[in-house]
Amino acid sequence: MPAKPQYRRVVLKASGEALMGGQGFGIDVSVVDRIASDIAEARALGVEVGVVIGGGNIFRGVAVASKGGDRVTGDHMGMLATVINSLALRTSLSKLGVEAIVLSAIAMPELCESFSQRQATAYMNAGKVVIFAGGTGNPFFTTDSAAALRAAEIGADALFKGTQVDGVYSADPKKDPTAERFERLTHTEVIERGLAIMDTAAIALARENNIPIIVYSIHEQGGFGAILKGEGRCTTVAD
Ligand code: UDP
Repeated sequence: MPAKPQYRRVVLKASGEALMGGQGFGIDVSVVDRIASDIAEARALGVEVGVVIGGGNIFRGVAVASKGGDRVTGDHMGMLATVINSLALRTSLSKLGVEAIVLSAIAMPELCESFSQRQATAYMNAGKVVIFAGGTGNPFFTTDSAAALRAAEIGADALFKGTQVDGVYSADPKKDPTAERFERLTHTEVIERGLAIMDTAAIALARENNIPIIVYSIHEQGGFGAILKGEGRCTTVAD
């Protein structure tokens, strides 16, 4: 009998950069297809999955602000980038026969539905993958904060943060061979040690709502499912 998943409902946060594969910009469809297959595996385990994708592979608001432009407009552009990525993921999921809905924090009814907590919960209860697009809908925030916010709103049991490496390390494992991976940390330790796994606002929001953060490698095929089954490599951030 397959192992019972550790979590019933989760939010997965993937950065926009994770979608660009070896390219310097944009979307590598084969990478999005692979992430979609991991989500399909989680659904097959019976786990309800919400997804927040960043936009850094296309645009970040600070790029405008750093050149003397208007930060708010830059952030609007960044939020639009997350919608592009969300539509790409929906396309990859539908190729696999996984029903997925994009709910945007910014209304754009020709492209996707608008976010509401009630609608999101109804879709998740019905077993659809819900992709939360448009970040929080507000400038000066990040998609990390959007992921923690949506996780709290939909009552997720855990927030999965897909990163470049398989957990939180004492130093950058790509530069320092003596770096050690933490099995477990508290939210407060992550904030106090300045371990840059997500922005501080996101970690504080997760802490306040008792949501564990699971840091794992988004690049390892099957990694998401393995952790859900209690087998994969990751760092668990929980109080
Ligand atoms: N953004 C925003 N409000 C939000 C989420 C995102 O203004 O609630 C903008 C911001 O400009 C940000 C960009 O969208 O730089 C892309 O999001 P993020 O940097 O979080 O993407 P990631 O680094 O995860 O790819």
